[in-house]
Amino acid sequence: MQRTPLIAANWKMNGSAALVEEITRELTGLELSDTEVLICPPATLINRFSAERNFALGAQNVSHEKAGAFTGELSTDLLLEAGARFVIIGHSERRTLNFESDALIAAKLAAAVNAGLTPVLCIGETLEQRQQEKTQQVLARQLDAVYASQPELLAKSVIAYEPIWAIGTGESATPQQAQTTHAFIRQHLKQYDTQSAIRVKLLYGGSVNADNCAALFDQADIDGALVGGASLKPAEFAQICLAVT
Ligand code: PGA
Repeated sequence: MQRTPLIAANWKMNGSAALVEEITRELTGLELSDTEVLICPPATLINRFSAERNFALGAQNVSHEKAGAFTGELSTDLLLEAGARFVIIGHSERRTLNFESDALIAAKLAAAVNAGLTPVLCIGETLEQRQQEKTQQVLARQLDAVYASQPELLAKSVIAYEPIWAIGTGESATPQQAQTTHAFIRQHLKQYDTQSAIRVKLLYGGSVNADNCAALFDQADIDGALVGGASLKPAEFAQICLAVT
């Protein structure tokens, strides 16, 4: 079963109109063949990208509400109108800093899919949870919270495994650690729908860079990456995009 690789950039609260230009220049003309590339800049930059580009755009968060008195929030319709086709949901920084619960994340994911946005659901364990051998338990809980009551959403999802101890630390999971966990995730997802579990793209995220990406992409259940820090360096991000094919 062939899954098209996806390399996604999460700019977080970084970037500028100048970086929009730079990354566009860097990626234009790149021979990406069968690789999908996704840039998730801050929402204010989404519509600064030209319509002529060889990559997709996404947001980093979305409201589960349709519209109305929700100061500071962005709806699926607003993101779609700005040009987003994907949205990151449940990033560990939002789970921690914005107290996003499993239930809220499930509601956001449903809202995204129902509006026609592809969600990139982030899951991952803390260092303490890994040391206590609770990784699988934590991931199962995060997945069940979203898919147990709405398994049909799996077919429309991308899932990113991001161990929290690897995010922004320079200490990526080893290819073996990541593969073992990805295999567990795919196996766990089969209870919802076997075909969707086989087809769903599983991205690895956490200190991915141009040096460590190829060994990660060699793993059977790793279908691409969600890249933070290295996605702010256009030349390095381009190298990562090329390494997956
Ligand atoms: P990082 O971030 O690549 O800087 O570790 C990844 C992420 O948080 O999505």
